[in-house]
Amino acid sequence: MIRLSLYICIGLIIALGAAWIAAHPGQILLQWQAWEIRLSLATFIALFILYTLGFFAVLRLLGAARHLNPLNSAARQEKRRLKGEQELASGWSALSIGDQNKAQKMVRRAKAHLGEQPSVLMLSSQAAEGEDKRKLLDQLNQHDDSRVFALRGLLDLARQKEDWPIALAYANELNDLVPGNKQVLKELLDLKVKSGQWTEATETLKAARKAKAFEMADADRLAAVLDYTRALEQDVAGHHQAGLDLAQSALKQDPSFMPAAHLAARIAIRLKDMNKARKIIEHSWKITPHPDIAELFLKLEPMENATERFRRVQKLTTLYADHPLSAHFLADVAIQAGHWPEARNALQSLINAKKASRKTYTLLAQLEEAQKQDSAAASKWRAKADNAKAEPTWTCYACQHTSPTYHQNCPNCGTFDGLRWG
Ligand SMILES: [Zn+2]
Repeated sequence: MIRLSLYICIGLIIALGAAWIAAHPGQILLQWQAWEIRLSLATFIALFILYTLGFFAVLRLLGAARHLNPLNSAARQEKRRLKGEQELASGWSALSIGDQNKAQKMVRRAKAHLGEQPSVLMLSSQAAEGEDKRKLLDQLNQHDDSRVFALRGLLDLARQKEDWPIALAYANELNDLVPGNKQVLKELLDLKVKSGQWTEATETLKAARKAKAFEMADADRLAAVLDYTRALEQDVAGHHQAGLDLAQSALKQDPSFMPAAHLAARIAIRLKDMNKARKIIEHSWKITPHPDIAELFLKLEPMENATERFRRVQKLTTLYADHPLSAHFLADVAIQAGHWPEARNALQSLINAKKASRKTYTLLAQLEEAQKQDSAAASKWRAKADNAKAEPTWTCYACQHTSPTYHQNCPNCGTFDGLRWG
């Protein structure tokens, strides 16, 4: 009905137009050099309409001819597609053995057969470098099918440039795209740590734990180091109680993470909560005795005399009696208190157990001097100390750098939590 009305309207307009032209006759003159053509307006309009209809008719004929063209048949298109896919496969094979030139040649051929579709752009981006690579990856990032590939590549480029904020932004996008992916979660966590986003990193670690991206013990250790780092920041900012809570949370995640025990006990002593500090120290000594913890233990009772100190240390060291540090700590305070037999027994037991180190022989030398003023015997022990096993220290597993104190980032290579005691 609407269409009929439209046709009637068009017919009316044409009829009115024709009547108007008949009522206003005129001529059109075309002149070119010696040529002159005179046409009535009605003839000109009729010719113009005929020309337009003819033009569209030719276009339709050309369109039909293209379908009939044997060069564009379905069979030929299929052949081109297969050829293009073979070229893509050859390109990827060339890349796998580092032959960039052949890969680029295959890209050019595949592009001629398949056009600029994502599969061609993917190979092209892998064969390209620098800014060209980035542009191709940006192009791929526009296609839903290739976004993961593009973001992975863009993330790698940002990593190469050590542009951590950009790398983090790509990792976040990638994580939104493929939530729960283990590799992406690990990478996101690493970048948040690199950017110092400790709270956000803790959240990502929770997601990574859920996705089983880490072994349980490794995840516990990481959680502990993250809490410890936040605890340090709080303590430095003057928020001692918050620092203490976070340090204790770190210890809950990993009771063997001694730096957290040291920090928690240190803050507790500063807050005059000696009971709490003592409990933290004793708990830590049971798992990982450490000279810094021993030092803090002495600070719990600054006014005690040498014998009182010896008795207290004796009690502490029974919590992990087999450990060389327990023997060293006990022998040290025993020498200061003049408890010679206890000092000698502790050190001799280490020698018997073949656990003696430089410290063991140095303490024996001190014992000889303090007990008997025997410098000849002391010199003998000191000579032995020179050739004995060194004391444990913080060593980076990534670069072997050693440090007397723990740092979350290795001072030499920057590896997060790279330092291990041993
Ligand atoms: Zn290192």
